[in-house]
Amino acid sequence: MKSMPRRRFLSGAATALVGGRLIQRASGAPMLPLAELSAAAPLIVSTWPFGKPANEKALATLQAKGSGLDAIESGIRVTESDPSNASVGLAGIPNAAGVVQLDSCIMSGPGHRAGSVGAISGFRHPISIARAVMEKTKHVMLVGEGAAEFAAKNGFETGPKVSEGQRVAWEKWKEEQRRTEKNHDTIAMILLNESGDLFGGCSTSGWGYKLPGRLGDSPIIGGGLYVDNEIGAAGATGLGENVMRYCGTFLVVEFMRQGLHPQDACLETIRRIARLDPKGFDLSINFIAIDRRGRFGGAGTGSGFEYSVTCPAFSRVIQSPGLTSKDIGPVGGNRK
Ligand code: ASP
Repeated sequence: MKSMPRRRFLSGAATALVGGRLIQRASGAPMLPLAELSAAAPLIVSTWPFGKPANEKALATLQAKGSGLDAIESGIRVTESDPSNASVGLAGIPNAAGVVQLDSCIMSGPGHRAGSVGAISGFRHPISIARAVMEKTKHVMLVGEGAAEFAAKNGFETGPKVSEGQRVAWEKWKEEQRRTEKNHDTIAMILLNESGDLFGGCSTSGWGYKLPGRLGDSPIIGGGLYVDNEIGAAGATGLGENVMRYCGTFLVVEFMRQGLHPQDACLETIRRIARLDPKGFDLSINFIAIDRRGRFGGAGTGSGFEYSVTCPAFSRVIQSPGLTSKDIGPVGGNRK
């Protein structure tokens, strides 16, 4: 694909960075200019403010001489264990049948290895099961009952298929059958270690009250997560249907391959999707990205979203720029 002028990619970020270096958002998280979106490795970036304690655990794992995969797994397990998190782990919102079905995947830049589990119920740490799929089988992805059988055989920790609080909320939902598209989030975590290698993982209970058997983008390699050790890594959160139809994180990495800053790569991916999608920018999608140079960024639709960044020098939540219909940009490729 022919690359486009750099200035076009920057317009979304520029509108968000009105007048200078730092804008304080309502939530309190600052938005930073591109020049400040970089740090020396080890560097960990994850989705949402709830990613911050997960990042900090991942950093501690690296500092205790754990591997990049150990760091991703231990960090994401923090979020999966949080009883107050309704969108990751067994405290998550169940599907329409009242059962929590979890999706997760993990990737190692070295060796370009991947493992994934989808629609798995009754296990506390899908990220660990995804890692075991990668390390102990010849496959990349196991789903549903097969995934549960594999997890049971390998002794993974079990838990209730729905928490008591979520069961009560589900009963109410069943009576009302209200729309619940907003009830979802994901931890996607990407990491650059001191050797310059990249790793990533993600985990979610997915779209609240989804149809049983629905897989989102989070267990899909190139959908909710992609790691390319030559270039960078990207993760996604938001309405998975709007990410997986476009190979969203694969696209972010490909834009970085063309030379874009990770934040611009996230912005351009959203623009590309919005140009093709009948819903335009009404997509509820968000991306994070990191490259081998330690540059990072994020972008989302609407007012953007918050993501967490951790390295030995700091650990903080950052506001990403958001894109709306005014940011659509011209059609790329040979349709100009
Ligand atoms: N991407 C997840 C899914 O569609 C949910 C989210 O991150 O909000 O299952």
